[in-house]
Order: sequence, then C-alpha cells, then structure tokens
Amino acid sequence: LDEVRAVDPEIAELIMAELARQNSHIELIASENWVSKAVMAAMGSPLTNKYAEGYPGKRFYGGCQCVDEVEALAIARAKKIFGCTYANVQPHSGAQANMAVFFALLQPGDTVMGMNLSEGGHLSHGSPANLSGAYFKVVPYGVNAEGFIDYDEVERIARECRPKMIVAGASAYARTIDFKRFREIADEVGAYLMVDIAHIAGLVATGQHPSPIPYAHVTTTTTHKTLRGPRGGLILSSEEFAKEHKLNKAVFPGIQGGPLMHVIASKAVCFQEVLSPEFQEYGKNVVLNAKALCKGLISRGIPVVSGGTDNHLMLVNLAAIGKTGKEVENLLDSVNITANKNTIPNDPQSPFVTSGLRLGSPAVTSRGMNEQDMDLIAETIAIMLKDPESNAEQAKANVKSLTDKYPLM
Ligand code: PLP
Repeated sequence: LDEVRAVDPEIAELIMAELARQNSHIELIASENWVSKAVMAAMGSPLTNKYAEGYPGKRFYGGCQCVDEVEALAIARAKKIFGCTYANVQPHSGAQANMAVFFALLQPGDTVMGMNLSEGGHLSHGSPANLSGAYFKVVPYGVNAEGFIDYDEVERIARECRPKMIVAGASAYARTIDFKRFREIADEVGAYLMVDIAHIAGLVATGQHPSPIPYAHVTTTTTHKTLRGPRGGLILSSEEFAKEHKLNKAVFPGIQGGPLMHVIASKAVCFQEVLSPEFQEYGKNVVLNAKALCKGLISRGIPVVSGGTDNHLMLVNLAAIGKTGKEVENLLDSVNITANKNTIPNDPQSPFVTSGLRLGSPAVTSRGMNEQDMDLIAETIAIMLKDPESNAEQAKANVKSLTDKYPLM
C-alpha cells in the first residue's frame, strides 16, 4: 500500500479504513467472502496492462503469448472443477455472464421463466429493472408458503407460457435445488435450462450441493462468492452449441470488449485453490456453520424461512417477531455485525424496508470460525433483537472476542 500512499494518500487511507472495518466486523453477507493473498496479488499484477480481445490463440492484439497461457490454464481448471467440456472465464461479473447467455440463446421478445426477485431470484433473471426483463418476456415463478420451490407449479407455468428458456438458481434461497426436475420441465416444453450457481458454486465444487452440469444446457456463476475468487463471472457448458463458439461470441464481441487479464489470472489462482483438499474442507465447513447459525437462531425463538438451510445461507423471518429488515440491519451494524435486509416470500414491506434478513457463512468460515462461534453469533443477534439498548455493550464485546480470535491479516 506504500505505493498507493505515495501517490494518493486519500485513497490509501480509505483502503486502510476498509481493511479495519472488515477486520473489526463479523461479515454475514451471504455473497461476500475473504480471498487469499495469492488471489488478491494476481489482481494487482502487471497483467492489468494487457489488451487481449479475442480468445487464446485467436487475438486481435499482439503480445498475447503469456496471457494466452493464463487464460488457457483458467479454462482448463474451471472445466476440471465442474466436470464440463466448455468454460468461458471472460465475463466481468455474474450479471454479464447471464446477459451473454441470454444474448447467445434467445431473441429479444422471447419468453423466459426466472425466479421472482422478491422470492429469492436475481435481478438478471428477468427483473423489469434489468435488461433481462426489458428485452425479454419474463414469466416469474416463486416459492410456496413454506418457502420451498414448488416444482409442480413451475411445471404448470412452463406448460402455460412455453418459455424458450428456464432460469434456475437464486440469490436468497436456502434449500437444495432439484436441477434434474428443472431439466425435465424444460425438456417437456422444449426450453433451454440455464442454471445460475453464483451463490452455491463453492458448494457445487466441493460436492456440498448437487451439480447442475449434467442437467443444464448452460451454467453461469460468479467467482467471488462461495468460490472465494476475484469479482467476476464464468460460463460453463457441455453442449455442442458451446463448441460452435455461440457462447464465446456472445461474451466477446457480443457484450464485452477486452477481457480483464489480471482478473482472469486471479480466477486461475482461485481455481487452483478450489482444487486443493483444504478447499474441500472449507466447503464442508461453510454448510456446517450455516446449519449451526440457523440452529442457534431457531433455538432462541428466531424463525427462519423454510425452517432451516441446506446451503450457506438462511433468511430470517423478522415479520414473525414484529421487526423489519431495515431496522435489524442497522441494529446489527451498530454492534459490528454486517448483514443485509432481504424480502421474504409474500413480504408486506417494500424492498427498501423488507421483513427479512439474509445471513450467510462463507466469509466467517474463511476467517476460521467454527460451529461454536456460530452459536455465539446467534446469541449476539438474539440479544440485540430482544433488548438492543441493554445488550449493545455485551453484543459488541461478543463480536470483538471473535474478531480478535480470528484476525484477517
Ligand atoms: N446471479 C446471482 C444468483 C447472484 O446472486 C448475483 C449477485 O448477487 C449475480 C448473478 C450477479 O453477480 P455480479 O454482482 O457479479 O454481477
């Protein structure tokens, strides 16, 4: 950081302040993580200087010998991790990966089914506020009253609207997704199945969640959530059309220009880590920790949508205890616990207020925390929900005991 400080002390200060914030807070945002120094260093490397429009061996710029090898390694490792025959490591983000698939397989105006944003889906799965919703006819599906995907209902909607593509995958869904059933429904109506594993990629990679690869025509993901890599996107497939460069062309020149070679190098480093035995252990612990946090909350009378979790996250039902997501997000922030408000199924509140809180275990697990620590976090959240004024000091002390025990750097 000394180099940054010499040129720009203001930004250096802010980076240090953010590091201090990350160090002193318990991070429960389900989509965030703590990357290794190796992953971070690759992002801050001279590869950022290189233009490399095109793909390995077929570039529109000279001097691509080294970055060609970097990208080829990233692709080979991604294919190995997920067991597929095609990978594109160039999408700048998860939303870009999804947009490229829409662009590759659909025509504007085609019908697409995606999970409702308010019931756990992602903006890029067809929200009217997103390009996916503006350019395509979106018919949403959701969850039942208990908070589970109702596959019979998905099938009924698909039969009725005959979509060209069905999108499975979510940002706030705590249960195992039945990709086989999704594919059966897609086949029945002649639709493509796109599965977005942005949230659960690290769990799929470690066998903690069934893989969509045998069922999806195309799978997309981010690389920065449970996969614990740099911010970015990834597209995977084993279909013939992928080999015909349809997906490659949709990414470049379809929706992006030059790839971020420093980020692709960092993705390659991340994938190398994912292939290690330590990461297998990490995936297991992410799920154990989420289950422990969930159990700790429920045993203290704090209800969770669908009554539990199968993965790395849970949705706390605050409506049941007369609170809002906005209020509790602020309350926890005041004692150094970071989480995000989230709508719950049939939420009476607006998306800015919400009746839910999404909690996840990926970042605290990377920090080394275990199931006992999760119980202390549950206790801390519980006392803050019960009587914040009397318990704030105790809550802060609990947080400090954990952040001191597991320093970041
Ligand atoms: N897909 C899902 C399921 C997500 O949860 C997210 C991000 O939260 C994305 C896609 C978008 O990823 P990005 O923020 O990298 O565009």
